[in-house]
Amino acid sequence: MSITDSLTEIKSSLPEAVVLVAVSKTKPVEMILEAYEAGQRDFGENRPQEMRSKYEVLPKDIRWHMIGHLQTNKVKYIIDFVHLIHSVDRLELIEEIEKRASRIGRKVDCLLQIHIAQEAQKYGFDKEEIMKLIQEGAFDRFEHVNIKGLMGMGTFTEDEEQLRKEFRILKNLHESILESKNIKALDMSAISMGMSGDYALAVEEGSTMVRIGSSIFGTR
Ligand SMILES: *Cc1c(COP(=O)(O)O)cnc(C)c1O
Repeated sequence: MSITDSLTEIKSSLPEAVVLVAVSKTKPVEMILEAYEAGQRDFGENRPQEMRSKYEVLPKDIRWHMIGHLQTNKVKYIIDFVHLIHSVDRLELIEEIEKRASRIGRKVDCLLQIHIAQEAQKYGFDKEEIMKLIQEGAFDRFEHVNIKGLMGMGTFTEDEEQLRKEFRILKNLHESILESKNIKALDMSAISMGMSGDYALAVEEGSTMVRIGSSIFGTR
């Protein structure tokens, strides 16, 4: 199937309010342009320098989403144009984003990555840790970082029940945060979950943003 056809098919299966992030990591700019010409504007990348070089040559109304683990010393490559950083997984990273964003007078939208999978993944806050930090107001002092919601990755499995269980962890955590009535947390409306293999389940479980690569651009 062509990129345009895949996009059309996926979009038609998604509720209108769900944002589709087309994950273009490792794919050439020609393929991104094909998706762009089909109307796609949100693209996801996982390497800062790759995102930067694509940003330089592609239309400026593209919204770039950083979805991969972000090293502190690479924030500088994306800070002036990134639309949303999904993969904020430690306070030290927020501090670096705050520092760099304040220097250029920009507010940067971020999601907190939460560890929900059964498998031992390297990255993400624990859900208990996040509740504690939010209750303590740990994010309130950042003036150039807007925490807009949560992100999670399910286990790499075809076990639907397992995946639903993991997505529910994120959805329930999101509800607890909103109920906590912490003023800064009230704007945390996004839940980024779901990839090519599991996005239909993720949407059923309350995702507001799906990150889909191979089903649009082919295998990597
Ligand atoms: C690569 C990647 C995706 C997209 O994966 P596909 O299976 O190709 O849809 C989504 N989220 C993250 C964090 C990724 O690294």
